[in-house]
Amino acid sequence: MTELHTCPGCGVKGMQVFHRQDSVPTNSCILLESREEAFRYPRGRIELAFCPACGFISNMAFDAKLTEYSGRYEETQGFSGTFNTFHRNLAQRMIERHNLREKDILEIGCGKGEFLLMLAELGNNRGVGFDPGVHQERVTGEAAERVHFIADFYSEKYAQYAADFVCCKMTLEHIHPTAEFIGTVRRAVGDRWDTTVFFQIPESIRILRDCAFEDIYYEHCSYFTTGSLARLFRSQGFDVVDLETEYGGQYLTIEARPARGTPTLPLAKEDDLSELAHYMDEFPGKFLQKRETWRQRVQEANAKGQKVVLWGSGSKGVSFLTTLDVGDAIEYAVDINPYRQGHYMPMTGQKIVGPKFLTEYRPDVVILMNAIYREEVSRELQRLGLAPDLCTL
Ligand SMILES: [Zn+2]
Repeated sequence: MTELHTCPGCGVKGMQVFHRQDSVPTNSCILLESREEAFRYPRGRIELAFCPACGFISNMAFDAKLTEYSGRYEETQGFSGTFNTFHRNLAQRMIERHNLREKDILEIGCGKGEFLLMLAELGNNRGVGFDPGVHQERVTGEAAERVHFIADFYSEKYAQYAADFVCCKMTLEHIHPTAEFIGTVRRAVGDRWDTTVFFQIPESIRILRDCAFEDIYYEHCSYFTTGSLARLFRSQGFDVVDLETEYGGQYLTIEARPARGTPTLPLAKEDDLSELAHYMDEFPGKFLQKRETWRQRVQEANAKGQKVVLWGSGSKGVSFLTTLDVGDAIEYAVDINPYRQGHYMPMTGQKIVGPKFLTEYRPDVVILMNAIYREEVSRELQRLGLAPDLCTL
């Protein structure tokens, strides 16, 4: 008999494991000082299970004690022009849509604080951001005095911070007890009926359909689709106002308000359970095939004496390298974030270098971890006078 797990989202006992990976690093974005430290980095297991009742996918082997979120956590995408344009447009859209001017904004999991600062700048708002990895000294500019940061996880004890707009981007996927967490947010909002809650997370139908194995890693223990995200919010006392996918279909966003009176009806796009079950069935086969294809590609390049580097040393890069397990066939990972350069990839040990390093290394193949940056990276390679074969996942 296959073991059935209880869903952390809806509480039904019916989750079955469909994907396993042993020995993966328990963090992707921690700055590691040496190759030795990288090699002996703590490992954990991935056992992804699917809930047929609500569509939620969770790593049932996840242990929160093994992950670290601290000052040496370096995840920002804020050094990319492509990302900054998207981020600024998102902030502007939220300000227009929810009339965020001279309002109080709370951001849960604010990272390095860029988004909160943008909302404060563009709408003359005030803000409080929560994140154990925040670096106050890196937050500068005219609006910096209107935002303050608390270097801690958001929890019940901060419920006194009332806000007109609560946002939480790329954080919920790091939390295992999802229903408990959304319940905490709902209780903190209380009877402030006009408060809008905005969440952004990775979209997971794409991950299953395209077998985007680079998007599956230890830190991400929770995987949502439009349907499972909406069902979770409704079950915790929210009305779903809007659900969207953006950033090349990679991000899923939800806008919700505290539910009052007659609940709103589910949106048509929430009906994704059978589609999800289908992609889940196909996933194990696709995974083996895709991993083999990439392994061969790297090994063939190696056999021809070609040099291969990764572009993107964040979570996708870490997952790609640990899944492929090709040792030194890939020697370096490139990153434009200067804070990551000079450090090492957990477990596989590649050194993280800046783009300029490539002018002396002269790679033949660059594997880009996220297709959305193709144009930006292509321009950068050209600027450096390089013409390697640029392939994207
Ligand atoms: Zn469920």
